[in-house]
Amino acid sequence: MTFTAEQLEIRALARDFAQTEIAPHAEAWDAAGKIPDDLFLRMAELGFLGMLVPERYGGLDLDVATYLLVLEEIARADASVALTVAIHSGPVPGILLAHGSESQKEGWLPRLASGEIIGAFALTEPGAGSDAAAIACVARRAGAGWALDGEKSWVTNGARAGLVMTFARTSPEGVGCFLAEPSQEGYHIVRSVTTMGHRASETVDVALRGLEVGDESLIGDPQRAFTYALEGLVLGRAGIAAQALGIAQASLDHATRYSLEREQFGRPLSDFGATQAKLANMAARISAVRSTIQEVGRRLDRERRGDRDTGTGADALVARAAGAKLLASETAMYAADEAVQIFGGYGYMRDYPVERLMRDAKGTEIFEGTSEIMRVVIAREIIKAAREA
Ligand SMILES: Cc1cc2nc3c(=O)[nH]c(=O)nc-3n(C[C@H](O)[C@H](O)[C@H](O)COP(=O)(O)OP(=O)(O)OC[C@H]3O[C@@H](n4cnc5c(N)ncnc54)[C@H](O)[C@@H]3O)c2cc1C
Repeated sequence: MTFTAEQLEIRALARDFAQTEIAPHAEAWDAAGKIPDDLFLRMAELGFLGMLVPERYGGLDLDVATYLLVLEEIARADASVALTVAIHSGPVPGILLAHGSESQKEGWLPRLASGEIIGAFALTEPGAGSDAAAIACVARRAGAGWALDGEKSWVTNGARAGLVMTFARTSPEGVGCFLAEPSQEGYHIVRSVTTMGHRASETVDVALRGLEVGDESLIGDPQRAFTYALEGLVLGRAGIAAQALGIAQASLDHATRYSLEREQFGRPLSDFGATQAKLANMAARISAVRSTIQEVGRRLDRERRGDRDTGTGADALVARAAGAKLLASETAMYAADEAVQIFGGYGYMRDYPVERLMRDAKGTEIFEGTSEIMRVVIAREIIKAAREA
């Protein structure tokens, strides 16, 4: 896989930043269930909160493939920080850019890119997870605007977000996308959720009780936002794939170092063929997944430049993004499991980082669509293409 000089430079910057300013604190932030405010200021300074935002709105305007490399490096240091950045940087500005009005873009994108506010994405509800089309949250016409009522589950970044892209039913068939501000009356954080992994990413449950928003807070067509959410999830899933890859790489990094240090039977673990096979299997899968993710990134870049993607069946972009997430998250789980095994009993202890990596890896098989749903998406494209052939 070849990278441009610019990509290598940005990746080196991200790696240096993540390894020096994030990795040493990952355990403490996981235990505290919070990322410190200072880190957001630092990421904003480096431009990492506006990676895909065009320069005219104050962003870095990176290509998607480079953005995915940065996310991988951040996740390699701390998956919670990477999840936070992925939600803030992927579907939220992505949907605004694709379907927002010029005044919405001018009003929100510079604030998101500068880190003045953090973005969140609220689609899931207690009764609507994989079947996101079943959302029951409603938006009713109220005077010149809308009133939103309903429940939203597990909103990542929810505790610190200044903007929550909220999906609500505007008619029995239609869904609208609303720019909700948690400071508004009617927006209630019901509870902070205690999660197995990604504990620092501040996940909350939300209740909307007559939350009033004007038409200026509605993105695009009030009936068509479910399509916007699905489009946003293509980039979102590529982001989660990169995040999962970072967890897999971190698992390999820790396992390799430990295998050189730990001695049994008078030899380092790295001398044993069983250990070597584990490291080799992890490395081979990681490298294949990285190529797959980069290919999805490049295709998303071509689309952003206006070239319509013509892939069909298993090669359709939506299927390739789902495939990248599926492979990356299963590789993260595999690599974290092998790393825990190489650490032996120490791997099972909270004192060592591989325990956190295993908890974090599991989340990537669930959020932004479970592994089962990724298979449903891929199979649907294969079958559709075969029917049309
Ligand atoms: C830590 C965390 C953070 C999250 N952050 C956000 C966020 O910021 N915003 C947001 O909107 N959502 C968020 N989510 C929600 C997430 O996207 C959902 O959890 C996910 O889509 C699955 O929905 P569910 O949990 O309700 O599972 P369900 O849909 O109830 O699924 C349960 C099981 O059934 C399987 N299943 C369901 N339907 C099918 C089918 N048709 N075929 C085969 N198997 C099926 C699933 O794969 C799964 O194994 C977050 C979740 C977590 C855990």
